[in-house]
Amino acid sequence: MTLCFATNNPNKVKEIQALLGDAFSLQSLAQIGCTETLAEDQDTIAGNSLQKAQYVFETYHVPCFADDTGLEVTALGGAPGVYSARYAGPQCNADDNIARLLHELEGKADKSALFRTVITLITQAGMHQFEGVLAGSILPEKKGTNGFGYDPVFVPEGTTETLAEMELQKKNQISHRAMAFRKLERFLKQRA
Ligand code: IMP
Repeated sequence: MTLCFATNNPNKVKEIQALLGDAFSLQSLAQIGCTETLAEDQDTIAGNSLQKAQYVFETYHVPCFADDTGLEVTALGGAPGVYSARYAGPQCNADDNIARLLHELEGKADKSALFRTVITLITQAGMHQFEGVLAGSILPEKKGTNGFGYDPVFVPEGTTETLAEMELQKKNQISHRAMAFRKLERFLKQRA
């Protein structure tokens, strides 16, 4: 089965192709001729992932899936959520985003947070969503140099190290994204 993974990140396509194996052939957006930026202006992670998958399915008429991820911090009412990538502003980088997050959390006792990934799959057979969640808490300072985004300040529940202190292999065993993709993998393989 050929499926489009609605991402511009070739590394993500490779990673998920390896997970799904030979029964599935993944195409990137570029491979289906989609060069425009996909809108993601919904107010939930699930809404954004649906918006991207729906656009590709309706415009290019190919079965596809799209993912979206955000960090939801309890004391901030679920922020940064869908704004995780640009929390400190449109030109900001991960360090700027972390700096804003730590600033917003100053003086707040509740440091609990979670990463949420939602994948939306759309084929002729219909729409399905798969969610992965990783609960944890935010440290007041950065630790570790692995990973990306908010990894240096996020400590998963039941561990003492941040995601940025973990080897990638360990992060991939527990991460929100891995959990959501494993659910997608199970679903697709049951129907292959
Ligand atoms: P995306 O939907 O995968 O592009 O993720 C949106 C934003 O969420 C990223 O730009 C990061 O700031 C943050 N993010 C997503 N996944 C992770 C993760 O595994 N660790 C840390 N930050 C992440």
